[in-house]
Amino acid sequence: MHDDRTLVEARLKRVLEERIRPAVYPESVPLTVSVWTAPGEPVPVVEGLAAPRSPIAVGDAWGAPWSTSWLTVSGTVPEAWAGRTVEALIDLGFDANMPGFQCEGLVYRPDGSPVKGLNPQNQWVRIAAPAAGGEPVLLHVEAAANPVILDYHPFLLTELGDRETAGDEPQYRLARMDLAVFDETVWQLVLDLEVLGELMAELPADGARRWELLRAVERALDAIDLQDVNGTAAAARSCLVEVLAAPAAPSAHRIGAIGHAHIDSAWLWPLRETVRKVARTAANMTALLEDEPDFLYTMSQAQQFAWIKEHRPEVYARVKKAVADGRFVPAGGMWVESDTNMPSSEAMARQFVHGKRFFLSEFGVENEEAWLPDTFGFTGGLPQIIRNAGSKWLLTQKISWSQINKFPHHTFLWEGIDGTRIFTHFPPVDTYNCSMKGSEIAHAARNFKDKGVARHSLAPTGWGDGGGGTTREMVGKAARLRDLEGSAAVRWQRPAEFFAEAEAEYPKPPVWVGELYLELHRATLTSQARTKQGNRRSENLLREAELWCATAALRTGLAYPYERLDRIWKTVLLHQFHDILPGSSIAWVHREAEATYAGLAAELEELIGAAQRALAGDPAGGRELVFNGAPHGRSAVPAGGAAVAVAGPGDCAVTAREDGGFVLDNGLLRVVVDGDGLVVSAVDAASGREAVAPGGRANLLQLHPDFPNMWDAWDVDQFYRNTVTDLVAADEVAVLTEGPAEVAVRVARSFGSSTVTQTLTLRAGSGRLDIDTEVDWHEAEKFLKLAFPLDVHTERYAAETQFGHQFRPTHTNTSWDAAKFEACNHRFVHLAEPGWGVALVTPSTYGHDVTRAVRAEDGGTTTTVRFSLLRAPRFPDPRTDQGQHRFRHSLVPGAEIGDAVREGYAVGLPERRVTGSAEAVRPLVELDQDALVVSAVKLADDGSGDLVVRVYESGGGRARGRLATSFALAAAVPCDLLERPWDGTRGEVVADGDGVRLALRPFELVTLRLTPAR
Ligand SMILES: [Zn+2]
Repeated sequence: MHDDRTLVEARLKRVLEERIRPAVYPESVPLTVSVWTAPGEPVPVVEGLAAPRSPIAVGDAWGAPWSTSWLTVSGTVPEAWAGRTVEALIDLGFDANMPGFQCEGLVYRPDGSPVKGLNPQNQWVRIAAPAAGGEPVLLHVEAAANPVILDYHPFLLTELGDRETAGDEPQYRLARMDLAVFDETVWQLVLDLEVLGELMAELPADGARRWELLRAVERALDAIDLQDVNGTAAAARSCLVEVLAAPAAPSAHRIGAIGHAHIDSAWLWPLRETVRKVARTAANMTALLEDEPDFLYTMSQAQQFAWIKEHRPEVYARVKKAVADGRFVPAGGMWVESDTNMPSSEAMARQFVHGKRFFLSEFGVENEEAWLPDTFGFTGGLPQIIRNAGSKWLLTQKISWSQINKFPHHTFLWEGIDGTRIFTHFPPVDTYNCSMKGSEIAHAARNFKDKGVARHSLAPTGWGDGGGGTTREMVGKAARLRDLEGSAAVRWQRPAEFFAEAEAEYPKPPVWVGELYLELHRATLTSQARTKQGNRRSENLLREAELWCATAALRTGLAYPYERLDRIWKTVLLHQFHDILPGSSIAWVHREAEATYAGLAAELEELIGAAQRALAGDPAGGRELVFNGAPHGRSAVPAGGAAVAVAGPGDCAVTAREDGGFVLDNGLLRVVVDGDGLVVSAVDAASGREAVAPGGRANLLQLHPDFPNMWDAWDVDQFYRNTVTDLVAADEVAVLTEGPAEVAVRVARSFGSSTVTQTLTLRAGSGRLDIDTEVDWHEAEKFLKLAFPLDVHTERYAAETQFGHQFRPTHTNTSWDAAKFEACNHRFVHLAEPGWGVALVTPSTYGHDVTRAVRAEDGGTTTTVRFSLLRAPRFPDPRTDQGQHRFRHSLVPGAEIGDAVREGYAVGLPERRVTGSAEAVRPLVELDQDALVVSAVKLADDGSGDLVVRVYESGGGRARGRLATSFALAAAVPCDLLERPWDGTRGEVVADGDGVRLALRPFELVTLRLTPAR
C-alpha cells in the first residue's frame, strides 16, 4: 500500500482547525457589555458590583496596567435555542499562545456569588443545559488587566513591572462577548480526533497500531459533511469507537494525573494579585470538580488557602466542601512552595509547621508529601526536616531544568547530610503544566528512567499562573487515555495514593546522596540583595524575640506574644516563596518586600526590647546588662542569658607601613593591609600560620560583565568569568580606630558609576577580621565579587546549610562538579587541611564560588573563596539592586568547623545592652557541649506554657552532652517539628533531673518539649 500518512495527517489538521473546532459553537448572538474601572487598587466585590457602568463594545480597548475593570454582560437566550446547551463566550482579549501571564477574569452572578474564572484557554460560562429559551442572562466579570511581562520575545526591558512606572496605556481589547449554542457532540469529536491524532504521531511508523489509527481517522473525516459538521459529527465519532476501545498493553507506563495549577505566590505580579489569581483558579476547579466526577485536583501552599479564606469566603466554602469530599486535595504541607537554599534551619522547619498545621486545623488533613515542583534546588538539610515534620515523600520537577547533567533517576531515595532518606519522585513528563497532549504522555513513558523495576509516574495537569488550572478538555482527553492501546495509561490520582503505589512497587530504589543542586538559576542566590537581607534579619530577630519572650514569660510572667509571632513568622515564610527570596520578581514585589521587612524588624525590636526590659528590671538600677542571643557564650555572657558588662583588656594595635598600608594586631591575629587596602597577610598567632596565599591579595573586589543568555535575574552563565576587572585602586586607605579595644582601617574606592567604602576591623580577644562593605551601586549587567585567595590545599569545602553543612568540590573533575560554579552558604564557608582551617563568615551573603589554582612560584595550592555581593540584571526589575548596600564578611584564620559555626551565629546576632537592676539573667537552658547548638527556644504553640527547645549536632560528628534547665523540670519529651510527642528520634534523649542527657548523631536535630514543674 502507498504511504499516505502525511496526506491524512495534514487533512486532519486542517479540517479540525477550520471546520470542526468552529462548529463547537454553531450559533451565537452578541451580549451587551458595560464597564466600570476601579480608580486604583482592586475593590471589594460588593463595591465592584454596585459601581455605575458605562458602555463598552467588542473591539474597544480596556485595562491600564494593573487596573481592574468590572464588566456587566447581559442578554437573552433566543427562543429558538430552547432545548440546546447555551454558554457565554467571554474573550477579554486573551493571547491564547500563552495559557496565563496576562489578563484574567472572575465571573460573578448578580448576588455576588462567584461562578468561575476566565483565562486564555478557558473562556466559557455555562448558562443553561438545556435552555428554556427566552431566559435573561446577567453576569459580572472582575477583569484584571495584568500586563504581559514575559512574552514569547522574552527578557526584554520593561517598566510594566511596577504600578508606579507602568503608565496607563490600555493593554487589551475586548475580543468576543457572545451567547452561543454549545454542541457537545462536536466538542467530543474534537477530543477524539486530538487524542488519536496526537497518539498516532508518537507511534512507530512500522507498527500496525499507527496505521489502524490513521485509517480510522480517515473514515471519520470521510463521514463528516463539511457543510454540516453538526449534523454529521455523531457519524464521524462512530468511526472512532473501535480504536478508542482498544485497551493499553499490560506493560504500559501508568501515569497518575492530578489536576494542578502552579501559582507563583508573587512573581510577574504583586502579592495582592496572587490573592485573586488563586481565587479565580479555585473557583474554576471547584466548578470543574462538580461537572467531572472522575476528576481530582490538588493545591499546595497553605498561604494560598488562607488568602481564599480571608478574601473570597464564597470560594473557600466550595473549596472546603470539595476537600471534605476528598476531591480537592491539599498538597505539600508547607506554608508556601519556598526556596530551600536560603531559608534558615528554623525557617525551613516552620514552613512545614505552619503549612501542616493549617491543613490539619482547617481540613483535618495531614500531608505526608512535600510538594516543590518549581523550587531552584534542594539542600542536603531538607530530608531531615521533611522527616521531622512527619512527612516522608518529596515531589519536584525542577531538576529537569538543569543545564548540563541529566539526573539519572525519576524515582529514588534522596539522602540528606544526616543520613535521612526520603522517597522522592521527579515526574518524567518534565512539566508541572501537563495538558494531556499525546507528546507529553509519550515523553513521560519514554523518558522514565526506572523502567523495568517501576511503572508509575505522576503528571501535574493544568495551567498555572493565571491559566485557571485544569481544563474540561484535559479531563476529556484523560478519560480517553485511561486504557488506550499504544499509550501510557492515565488516571486521576491523589498525590498520596501515587506515592504509596510507587513506593510499594519499588522496594529498592536507587539512592542519591547530598544536595539536589539545580544547574540553573544560580544567580538567585544574589539578585535583590535587600530582599535577602530582610529575610535574614527577620530570621535572626525572630530567634531573639522567641528566646527573650519565652525567658521573660517563664521568669516574669510577661505575656508571650503568640499571635504576633505567628503572624510575623507567616509573613517571613511567605516572602521565602521561590520567586521572592530568590530575587526573580518584578520591582513592585521587591519594593513591597523591603517595606514589609522594615515593618517586621520594628515590631520584632519592640518585642525583644519589652522582654529584655522586663528581665533587666528597673532601669534606675543603673546596671548595664549584656544580652547574648547566640547559641554560644561570649564575653563571659552565657548563651541565651545576660550578665553585667565587663570591659576586657584592650590590646589592639595598628602600625603604619611604608607602602601606605597598615598592620593590625591583637595578639590573636596579625593582619597586613597594603597601600591599596588589600589584605596581603593574615597570620593566626596560635599556629603561626599564614592564611593568605603567597602573592595573593584578599578583600579584593572583582567586577565581571554579567549578561546571561536568558533569565536575567535568575541566571549567571559560566562565561561571565572570562572577563574580570580587579578593583585595586583605592581613593583612600586610612586608620579609623586606633585601639586598644579595636583597630580599624577605612578603604574607599570608586569604579564605573559606583563607590565602595570598606572598614576592616580587628577587636580585642577576637580571631576574626570583620570587613564591612558599603556600596553605592549604579552598574548595569555587572557582577561584584569579594575574593579571598587562601593558602589551603583541599579537594572539598564545607558550606553551612540547614542544621549542618554540606561539602562541595573545589575542583571541576566531572561535569557535575563543574556545574556547581556558584553555590549557596548560610553563614559560613570553611576550608581545611587536617589540623588547620579558615572560615569565611557572613550574616547575609548566600552566593559564593570556590576555585583552586597551583602557584608557579612554589607549587602550593591557592584556594580562592569569593562571595557574590551584587548583580545588576535588568529583567524583570530594570533597576535591580541600584543604590546603597551594606555587607559584612569576616575572615577567621585557624578556624575549625566549630569556630565557623560559632562565628556564623555571632556575626548575625550582636549583643544587646539594656540598663536595669538585675545582676544577671540566667539562661533557661544551657548545654555543656559546643557541637550541640540550640536553634530555637520558644513557648509551645499550643499555649500550654511548655518550653520548646530545638537542638542539633552542628559539627558532622557524634556529640554527647547535657541540656540543663534553670527551672524545675516536670517532663521532657522528644517531639516532631509540630511539637507533638514523637518516637522518631534516632539519638539518645534521656531525662536527667532538671535536664536532659543527649547523644546525637551527625547533624541530628531533636525538638524537646520541656514542661516546667508548676
Ligand atoms: Zn514557580
